[in-house]
Amino acid sequence: MAHVDEISSDERDKQALQHIEDVTIHASQIQRQILTQILSTNADVEYLQQHGLHGSTELSTFKNLIPLISYEQLRPYIDRIANGDDSPILCTNPITEFFISSGTSGGEPKLIPMYEEEFMRRLSFFDYVMPRMKQLFPNSLVGKGKGMHFQFAKVELKTRSGIVAHTATTSLCKRANLNNTSPKDIILCTDTNQSLYCQLLCGLCQNDIVFRVGALFASTLIHVLKFLEDHWVVLASDIRAGTLNTKITDPSVREAVMNILNPNAQLADFIEAECSKGTWEGIITRLWPNAKYINAIVTGSMAQYLPKLNYYSNHLPIVSDHYGASECFLGLNLDPLCSPDRTSYTLIPTMAYFEFLPIDRTKSSRELSRELVDLVDVKLGHEYELVITTYAGLYRYRMGDILGVTGFKNKAPNFSFVCRKNVVLSLDIEKTDEAELHDAVQEAARLLSPFGAAIADYTSHADSSKIPGHYVLYWEIHVKGGISIPSSIYEDCCFAIEELLNGPYRYLRSHEKCINPLEIKIVKVGTFEKLMAQALNRGASMSQYKTPRCVNSTHIIELLDSNVVIKYFSKKCPKVDTKALHRLLS
Ligand code: AMP
Repeated sequence: MAHVDEISSDERDKQALQHIEDVTIHASQIQRQILTQILSTNADVEYLQQHGLHGSTELSTFKNLIPLISYEQLRPYIDRIANGDDSPILCTNPITEFFISSGTSGGEPKLIPMYEEEFMRRLSFFDYVMPRMKQLFPNSLVGKGKGMHFQFAKVELKTRSGIVAHTATTSLCKRANLNNTSPKDIILCTDTNQSLYCQLLCGLCQNDIVFRVGALFASTLIHVLKFLEDHWVVLASDIRAGTLNTKITDPSVREAVMNILNPNAQLADFIEAECSKGTWEGIITRLWPNAKYINAIVTGSMAQYLPKLNYYSNHLPIVSDHYGASECFLGLNLDPLCSPDRTSYTLIPTMAYFEFLPIDRTKSSRELSRELVDLVDVKLGHEYELVITTYAGLYRYRMGDILGVTGFKNKAPNFSFVCRKNVVLSLDIEKTDEAELHDAVQEAARLLSPFGAAIADYTSHADSSKIPGHYVLYWEIHVKGGISIPSSIYEDCCFAIEELLNGPYRYLRSHEKCINPLEIKIVKVGTFEKLMAQALNRGASMSQYKTPRCVNSTHIIELLDSNVVIKYFSKKCPKVDTKALHRLLS
């Protein structure tokens, strides 16, 4: 019987791998079919009728009549659904839940409509991941043992009409087969600290069968390891006694943990010995010796956590396996063991109808044209903003993500995640986006490494409270050796960043003098933890939380400013590139 199961699971794996081959070979035809299906299923919905589509599934008619939109334009329709209007407004199928995105629009969280069959259809997106990992780690625990994947559900809200609104992660955790060291009752506990403590406890109890350690985003995993650093003594004592700390009060969580936990003095000794060695280097491989890889998104703004993850994991492979959003599951990394900084995602043609708005980030007016390009027509080396049309009622919806084409899997392009479009620092006509800021910060941070220091986290703000305004960077620094860093080094960091920023910035700063010197404010260790705690208190989800790379809200700036230890300014003017003037005028 076991043999039969093995064959069928092998067969399932083969089919999942073959499916990706097929959909990438036939990307163009599949994209057309998907659009036709979306438009015919939703032919009668108010939104498409209003725009004059009247049941047409013609590509050219769709492109001519349906405008490009952002969430703001969709909000009135979504509000009506949330308030109980159950006529077919955006899609024919009744909306059964809303996903709460981590992004906001006009300060309000975005609610993304969803219905049951569509969510179940989307779940197939992940079918490929484990078969591929098993293929890459044959004859190992991969796929046979358990994953220790930290996930956190959020409280479910109800809209005025009673439709559930929760994060996509919460919905996924409820329905997917997780094969995790932590049972669902723990993951679904909405008290983040109780859940995290128990997830770690379960992961430690079963440390020998863990084949991967992960979280959705790298930042969450870093937070988990910090939590372990602060709580290993209590965790080990729970494992020694086979009892659960009384601070864990949720009855279903207690029951779930007690089904797994047995007194184990030997394991407790081992954990205590490893955690008291005085270094956290390689802690993941030390405590979970059979882990073959780290599973977390390390692209986009998460790239800055790579050095820390490498340190904690003794350079285990870091697999950034997918690119997804509440709006839609989007792309898979088909070369999961590639170096993390070369990670690309292949957009899966069955997930939505994809279009691409050409972008040139070096130009002050970034969009090259309003002509959108289809999935199979994007060009190698070019950058685009992703636009999606989904079964669940988003039509030509701008995701706000900028992607760069890095290659092709059969006919389907592979994309690197470049940045979020609207994360920009801007004081004048210059625009500094997330990717550019990130590269400049990383480069400047090299000046700190001779002192054993590194940036643990950062954010930024365009401070226009005084004229001229200036860019402010908040840096949390972790120093290993206790060597003091001279002020001149931080001033050099300020200047190095300015030198690396775009031509328009340097022109405005050095030639026009309408931007003042860049400032770095060093904040106390733990400030970014506080920032996260504040966001969680305000309803953000631990699983989806990402440090904002640019902040504007007063309460965040107040928190950061109240933790500033010292400030430094750039002492020199960056070089002006004469071409910048032309770029400004283009
Ligand atoms: P949410 O709607 O809260 O799930 O957030 C979705 C957003 O997270 C996306 O639109 C991206 O901006 C970001 N994101 C998701 N996956 C990745 C990834 N693999 N790399 C970089 N950013 C990502």
